[in-house]
Amino acid sequence: MSEAHSDPAGQWDGMDYRTIARMIDTFLPRVQKPARYTGGEFNSNPKDWEARGPQGRHRIRLGIAFPDIYDIGMSNLGMQVLYEVVNRDDRFLAERVFAPWFDMEAELRRSRVPLFGLETRHALGQFDVLGFSLAYELDYTNVLNMLNLAHIPVRARDRGPEHPIVIAGGSNATNPEPMSDFIDAFLIGEGEESLTAFLALYDELRESSPRPDRTVLLREAAHRIPGCYVPTLYEAHYDDRGVFTALEPLPGAPELPVKKSFVDLVDYPLPTRPVVPYMETIHDRAAIEIMRGCGRGCRFCQADLIYRPRRVRPRAQIIEMADQLLKSTGYNELSLLSLSSADIKHIDLVVQDAIDLFDDNTLTIAMPSTRVDAFNVHLAELIERGKRSGITFAPEAGTERMREVIHKGVSEADTLAAAEMAYSRGWQTIKLYFMIGLPTETDQDVEGIGHLAQKVLDVGRRHHGRRARVTVGVSTMVPKAHTPFQWAAQATRPQIERRISVLRNVTRDRGMRVSWHDPESTIVEGVMSRGDRRVGTAIYGAWRRGARFDAWNQHLRFEAWQAGMGDAGLDIETYGTDDRDIHARLPWDHVDVGVARWHLVAQWNRARGVEAEPRQRQSFVLLHGEDVTTAPTLATVGASALATQS
Ligand code: SF4
Repeated sequence: MSEAHSDPAGQWDGMDYRTIARMIDTFLPRVQKPARYTGGEFNSNPKDWEARGPQGRHRIRLGIAFPDIYDIGMSNLGMQVLYEVVNRDDRFLAERVFAPWFDMEAELRRSRVPLFGLETRHALGQFDVLGFSLAYELDYTNVLNMLNLAHIPVRARDRGPEHPIVIAGGSNATNPEPMSDFIDAFLIGEGEESLTAFLALYDELRESSPRPDRTVLLREAAHRIPGCYVPTLYEAHYDDRGVFTALEPLPGAPELPVKKSFVDLVDYPLPTRPVVPYMETIHDRAAIEIMRGCGRGCRFCQADLIYRPRRVRPRAQIIEMADQLLKSTGYNELSLLSLSSADIKHIDLVVQDAIDLFDDNTLTIAMPSTRVDAFNVHLAELIERGKRSGITFAPEAGTERMREVIHKGVSEADTLAAAEMAYSRGWQTIKLYFMIGLPTETDQDVEGIGHLAQKVLDVGRRHHGRRARVTVGVSTMVPKAHTPFQWAAQATRPQIERRISVLRNVTRDRGMRVSWHDPESTIVEGVMSRGDRRVGTAIYGAWRRGARFDAWNQHLRFEAWQAGMGDAGLDIETYGTDDRDIHARLPWDHVDVGVARWHLVAQWNRARGVEAEPRQRQSFVLLHGEDVTTAPTLATVGASALATQS
């Protein structure tokens, strides 16, 4: 099914939007779910392509690109927010584009129709800027494939004045190096302000020419826009063993580090009019981000660290947004999104207020929450109102020792008390989430997962007999940049397989269903999450050999990845499988997410039972020539700036 690709240094070859529209209409009867490609949905905003902005110039045209299919991308709240932020500004125009599924890709390639924006069907090559959302490492080959389908050179160095500027943001931009061969500029941090600042800069530089010089634009952006990182302005160095040693600014480049941008959530009560798909998507409902950040400090959790400070949306604003959203979309289901909803003060009152918006009690609320305690059960009761569809707890590890290592702050007694409450209130099935492949893990820790799950099931049987169920979801930890576990070894394939087999041996009860992540996708994700620039060669090599939709287990082509890593002179099975030296430079050290390195070192040492020596702490005082122990971090600055919100 997957074919090898070539990467012609192509360009948009003049096919106008009318021809593209006509050709696409001939494909649609032959592809699955044609509504993925039609656009025209309720609340979509097809702005006039030719209309002029306030300065009499055409609007800056942005393609917001999501590197997975429509069904997934349309459920991405960040994309809906940015679409509205950009389109509200009369200087700009934003359209959406998603990765075409295999059948549509084949049609596009066969007919040489370029990938296009959903709103007006203009070729992506006609846009000024293409912005990719990077939230998952296994989507990276889709970025290359989408560029190729748009007839835009995949590598940044092959693009010329006739091509759009390709930018990227999202959580994975906090380690931009693996994708730095393909992206002209990264916007690191939260995009609500930096994206419009980038487009405004583009507009400003057009005063002298219709398409600004890319080199000038990128250099100006790196200097002037918070969180903007332009990889070509820096050179990576490695030692004789191929270990990354430094990122050196080239002449004219801004000094490092690049500090992430972040916003005050209360200033962005968006989206108000999200696009409503005509087809079913994975989350077919209105959504509001009720909190950004978490602050609980689980040591494996990247989201906790990169989205600091924790910002809670005020209750009145949430309800106002909910009212507006439900009226503008016709949905009767509302998702209240955050990293840890149960930690929000008075969240039960927020939920009740939302339910009360509909007099007839027909509003369905969805609120992902995995906290292991009675309050989570109380929340689930409030949300489900009589139904008992499912309740989830995430103890994350099987033994008290392991939970201390990861700083989860949950005991076995907490888990059993929460299970007792859930089963006694009518739930028959409890979902439990765990991780394997954690630092210092032993077979006993893995067996502990099975033992804890069994104890939970025993509680269920006291209430429901044979109808009680426990489902156990197990993922393998992938150490992430900017977390205390960024120095941890990635579990090897034999280790992962051994731990899965240990787990299977202790989860044989018929009331238990166990599932785990595919080890090969974990290995690929692990390589890219902490990769340096050389990994870009592997991504390119894997894509050339047909890899795409790697996030879909059935489409992951591990052999293409193995060969791609070989192109880079790296071994996929061993890359990142040793603990990293805490004194060494890391490929993402030039990105400052607002958390001091000594804090991460202290947490990593505590996880391993190592007391931090004063001398060890000293060695991290000077990072990029800056005293990170005393410099105000984004977390502290933000916390005081936002203190009035809650
Ligand atoms: S509670 Fe969840 S979101 Fe918060 S730090 Fe822990 S794992 Fe991350």
